[in-house]
Amino acid sequence: EAKKHVFKTQYHKRTLIAVKPDGVQRRLVGQIIQRFELRGFKLVGLKMLQVSEDLLSRHYSQLTGKPFYPDLVKYMTSGPVVVMVWEGYNAVQTSRAMVGLTNPADAQAGTVRGDFIMFIGHLRNVVHASDSPEGAQKEIQLWFQGQELLNWDCCYHNITCEL
Ligand code: UDP
Repeated sequence: EAKKHVFKTQYHKRTLIAVKPDGVQRRLVGQIIQRFELRGFKLVGLKMLQVSEDLLSRHYSQLTGKPFYPDLVKYMTSGPVVVMVWEGYNAVQTSRAMVGLTNPADAQAGTVRGDFIMFIGHLRNVVHASDSPEGAQKEIQLWFQGQELLNWDCCYHNITCEL
């Protein structure tokens, strides 16, 4: 019964999370990973890289025409990012709730953006999280090669809500 309900509610499993350059600079990588681990997500891919403008324009393809895009490029290419794929129940919605609203000034306490940063005149908001299942799929394919994503058996399967 429970499973039937789960699949009716648009179940999706994987999302892409990135610690942005400000998060890496501020040594927040471990804290962010820990939040996802504690929530019960399973890490299936992880790497650190210097983002190219080309990758960024494909990642933010719907934002390239926005007035803030040049600043976003400057921000996102200012240093390395740590990008991850996490697997779990309703991964996209759950992780968006954990990350908080785009503008840290609006982000609730308890979220990554609400706990680690204030609004400082421009949107340096520590972390990226895919905002739809389709977006997650596109981003995962963009950032990772298939063999970089590992399927591994979780020994706590029955208590971490993995399906
Ligand atoms: N951004 C910005 N100015 C804006 C809106 C967005 O600099 O007015 C940046 C910000 O870093 C944000 C990213 O562009 O996280 C992507 O924007 P989006 O609206 O997709 O927000 P997100 O999904 O990251 O919450």
